[in-house]
Amino acid sequence: MRLNIKISINMSGSITFTMVKPAAVADGHAAAILAKIAEGGFKIKALKMTRLSKEQAEQFYAIHSERPFFGSLVKSMSSGPIIAAMLEKDNAVEAFRAYIGATNPAEAAAGTIRKTYGKSIEDNAVHGSDSDDNAQLEAGYFFSQFERF
Ligand code: ADP
Ligand code: MG
Repeated sequence: MRLNIKISINMSGSITFTMVKPAAVADGHAAAILAKIAEGGFKIKALKMTRLSKEQAEQFYAIHSERPFFGSLVKSMSSGPIIAAMLEKDNAVEAFRAYIGATNPAEAAAGTIRKTYGKSIEDNAVHGSDSDDNAQLEAGYFFSQFERF
């Protein structure tokens, strides 16, 4: 008897989700940040400019709803347009969080996106997913299958 086993290996790396936050877009840094992301070897799989409503920002950051900064964060994140993107790279979630730097730009390593473009711990230029599951969840808010390449 012959046994045929088909093994499929996903060679294309893993996915993370990012947003260029409203303050960074308003300050004119969106294109430079996208260029820096590409320079880091992150491949853009989906991309759009949009704006979060207050309710959408609350849903996106729901895990932080009990934190003292929640109201201010939601206000900031819904204050103007953002650039949302789905990125691909090996170990994308961890690699991208290292690439953007610490949450507080003041503590972020030199050369990271948050160090270069972040204005404060709240307006820290970019979002980066913190797990593979959250990357899928967050990308799902923004991109249909027809918008993914
Ligand atoms: P990260 O974005 O690095 O994953 P968190 O998930 O802890 O950080 O926080 C989500 C977002 O909330 C941060 O990116 C930042 O915009 C904001 N934030 C976090 N901590 C503070 C704080 N102490 N004061 C104001 N805003 C904060
Ligand atoms: Mg986080």
